[in-house]
Amino acid sequence: MADLVLHDVVVDGRLVDVRASGGVIVEIDRPIVARPGDDEVGGGRGALIPGLHDHHIHLVPLAAAERSPFVGPPVVNDAAQLAAVLRQAHEALPARDWLRAIGYHESVAGPLDRRRLDAIVADRPVRVQHRAGGAWVLNTRALELVGVDASTDRAGVERDDAGQPTGRLLGLDRWLRERLPPHPEPDLAAVGHRLAQYGVTGVTDATPVGSLDDLAPIVAAATGGALPQHVVVTGAPRLAAAEVPAPLARGPVKLVIEEYALPPLDTVTRWMRTAHDAGRPVAVHCMTRAALALALDAWDEAGTLAGDRVEHGSVVPPDLRAVVADKGLTVVTQPGFVLERGDRYLASVDPEDLPHLYPCKSLIEAGIPVGGSTDAPYGHPDPWRDVATAIERRTSGGAPLGLREAVAPERALALFLTPLDAPGGTPRRVEVGAPADLCLLDASLSQVLEDPSSSHVALAVIDGVVHGG
Ligand SMILES: [Zn+2]
Repeated sequence: MADLVLHDVVVDGRLVDVRASGGVIVEIDRPIVARPGDDEVGGGRGALIPGLHDHHIHLVPLAAAERSPFVGPPVVNDAAQLAAVLRQAHEALPARDWLRAIGYHESVAGPLDRRRLDAIVADRPVRVQHRAGGAWVLNTRALELVGVDASTDRAGVERDDAGQPTGRLLGLDRWLRERLPPHPEPDLAAVGHRLAQYGVTGVTDATPVGSLDDLAPIVAAATGGALPQHVVVTGAPRLAAAEVPAPLARGPVKLVIEEYALPPLDTVTRWMRTAHDAGRPVAVHCMTRAALALALDAWDEAGTLAGDRVEHGSVVPPDLRAVVADKGLTVVTQPGFVLERGDRYLASVDPEDLPHLYPCKSLIEAGIPVGGSTDAPYGHPDPWRDVATAIERRTSGGAPLGLREAVAPERALALFLTPLDAPGGTPRRVEVGAPADLCLLDASLSQVLEDPSSSHVALAVIDGVVHGG
């Protein structure tokens, strides 16, 4: 593998050149004279920072979402955006593939029917799922392919006054699935490419998979280079003792405390002991006050292990915060949810919980290690949106949410610069001997942090190889 020489980059405020060899930074100096065979990149005096780490993401569902754009608020808010997103997906897909979109709501552009979809994409089958689930709208091409026409006699096929199908199919999910081609394999290469464009060089997949087979697409993509990022995987308690195939690394065991059906304390305690007995910490999904309280009770029983963490920490009131700090637990938060879901939270969350929603600063001040993540595809996969929101604490509607939890720009970015095995630990640095996992920006760091955005990412370097840009 050729060495990589980055010229004219700013590291910690100093204009330098950087050489990476064998995936490691071996020289930071100025000038570094390139040798024959080196790969050379001009950095344009942009800041060179460690590549971002997303400490909680779901790769396979994200890949599925790449093929199935989300067309509801807050991503898509009007008819023009709807048309733009569907056309963009249409252009990205191979000919003949179905275009599937999810999350539609009438607040975007009123009721959708086949004619309106035809006006956007006519020469490819399109189906759009309503946010509520159970309802699909198909364009005319799609109706033809599943065999729906004026003569179709089936409850759930909605008709207009003239007896023609409107394109809306209600409660026909299973019937529809039997008539659709098999869903194509998720394309993790598209995910790898997109994450590199955000400067992301490592991720933790927080999916509680119950079988090593479920990791096969990730292993294949990571082995073949389609997914260049470093990947740590979690998995459910039943895989606690299982080794994972290289090049994946094993992280904490994922425990899900489902907020709608809290498991018994004994069960959570047993999960924790299973993980700890296998020498692994746990990452516990806690999206409500009650779920966090239950998890903390289970930690009382099972004890803690270094690296144990709370995922989301969506509601952390002061009394529980003290316990989290006391036990030395890490919190992996998603600042982006304040942006994406904040308006909904403001309208629906228990007023007692509102001041404690997605806390950040209060946790840090309590000495709790805090790491950042997107939870994509359940949040937008661009971590720079999370960085901006950790600073601004504004919803997509512009309302402030927990301004007291806002952190300084450098601190917000640091949420994503920590090691994969220590999300709340010391941010990595660009220094000799460090892995050559880097993010080159197109301006100075202070300029970028004035308005954090992935549009400033010039390229990512992963294992000493340039990606994106
Ligand atoms: Zn998640």
